[in-house]
Amino acid sequence: MSYIAEYIWIDGTEPTAKLRSKAKVVADGEEPGIWGFDGSSTNQAPGDSSDVVLSPVLVTPDPVRGGDSKLVLCETLQTDMTPHPSNNRAACAAAAEKYGSFDTWFGMEQEYTFYEGRIPLGWPSKSGFPAPQGGYYCGVGADEIFGRPIVNDHLQACIDAGLHISGINAEVMPGQWEFQIGPVGAPRVADEMWLARWLLYRIAEDYSGSEGIPVSATLDPKPVAGDWNGAGCHTNFSTNQMRESYDACVAAAEALGGEGKPALHIANYGDGIEQRLTGLHETARYDQFSYGVSDRGASVRIPWQVERDGKGYIEDRRPNANCDPYLVTRLIIDTVCSAAS
Ligand code: ADP
Ligand code: MN
Ligand code: MN
Ligand code: MN
Repeated sequence: MSYIAEYIWIDGTEPTAKLRSKAKVVADGEEPGIWGFDGSSTNQAPGDSSDVVLSPVLVTPDPVRGGDSKLVLCETLQTDMTPHPSNNRAACAAAAEKYGSFDTWFGMEQEYTFYEGRIPLGWPSKSGFPAPQGGYYCGVGADEIFGRPIVNDHLQACIDAGLHISGINAEVMPGQWEFQIGPVGAPRVADEMWLARWLLYRIAEDYSGSEGIPVSATLDPKPVAGDWNGAGCHTNFSTNQMRESYDACVAAAEALGGEGKPALHIANYGDGIEQRLTGLHETARYDQFSYGVSDRGASVRIPWQVERDGKGYIEDRRPNANCDPYLVTRLIIDTVCSAAS
């Protein structure tokens, strides 16, 4: 019997790329191979030379269709088999390879917000705002929590697809949630992040909110202006040196604050980052760099147990929810590993 392979790729939309997918029927016993698409419809090619190549990088069981179906995450190539300009994975893989002796691990915390139509899920539809933040983070009860069936369905789907998902939690703003992928190396962590994002969007399609409107998930870094938390993608990481030594953890934090590095990282950590990194709502300002133990108001946090144990990892709190994890992990590898070389 043939099976269905859902080919998934990252498009060329700027400033924030979108996910695309289409299905291919593959003969029994065959692997999902190279395929292609019309790049003129995805901001990836002109109409008179529109072919872009899909090259599989991660194949998993498809928890949505089930059975023998597969999900096929791809990178995009030009027809001469070189990376497409919108392909950020190739440089990430090259950096991970160059600094392979550091055995870098990443754990990424993806925050996101559910919407019902144009309103965050669970928010009053006619006028006004929900009660101020305070009771929603890791809350329980229908007055605090909106979208749990979708979140649980997504968590199980990620497990069934074999992703390194390590947990979920309700976030500070109502309708806002988080999942974590890792710890795992690059570029695999970024592959899994993109696949988990696709699963989130796809699974939410099948649910409606209280108004009967289908639910969508967004990675908007500041979905509601004012006194409401934004959505980030905290990136925890370690090298083999950091997993053995506290000094190496501090040196990594220092490297991220090195000459020219804060501006370079901020410029590549997701569109609209100035709106989110205001210095309020558990953030440090986008134009200031700081690090500290247990400090959720710093750019980089050293977890308290890392200080106690004298080894471990650090958390870069700056990346936006809408970041490209290939860019974020590549920059961290380059900055931290070159300083420690
Ligand atoms: P927070 O307290 O900031 O909400 P989370 O529990 O959401 O933290 O996320 C912590 C992340 O750190 C997890 O994804 C976990 O996999 C990751 N992590 C743990 N140890 C390491 C390590 N040594 N290197 C890299 N990441 C790690
Ligand atoms: Mn978290
Ligand atoms: Mn969080
Ligand atoms: Mn965090």
